[in-house]
Amino acid sequence: MPRSRTRKRRHREIKRVPRSRATLPEYDRGAVPEGLVTWRQLRDLNLSPGDNRGPDGNRGPVAILRCAWCGYRPQYSCNHPTRGRLFRVDLAKPKRTPTLAQERALDRAMAARQTCPKCKRRYYFCLPLRRFGCCLECHDGTPADPTTYTAAPATHSLAA
Ligand SMILES: [Zn+2]
Ligand SMILES: [Zn+2]
Repeated sequence: MPRSRTRKRRHREIKRVPRSRATLPEYDRGAVPEGLVTWRQLRDLNLSPGDNRGPDGNRGPVAILRCAWCGYRPQYSCNHPTRGRLFRVDLAKPKRTPTLAQERALDRAMAARQTCPKCKRRYYFCLPLRRFGCCLECHDGTPADPTTYTAAPATHSLAA
């Protein structure tokens, strides 16, 4: 028993990295500077990491939130899976909201599927364009419910 215990301890010591040589600055729980938040806090703020970059220039956390156990060995870097990733709030960006161009493209696509090419009325539902190529009223005379479409844009004004 004592032999396996010493072996385990030696193995763990090899993995230890002095805190001064850690790639990212590390902060203990409860001692995180203002402006740094964890991944979960970032999500709660509806933000994405944005321009947060590590020292290698790649996108990623700017600092490490040390795990609770590492509070007892402050001279070593925390490389435990329970450590947290810290991000700067001022570099974060709003989470992927559709751009104006994307919204316009989506609206155009919907308009094409909801507008009858014959009577030019835009319906609130998608038309059987692949089967009939027009709305039901144009196809077989089934009167369309006036509440299900918006009037056609005036192309040719009728004689009064
Ligand atoms: Zn740790
Ligand atoms: Zn029609």
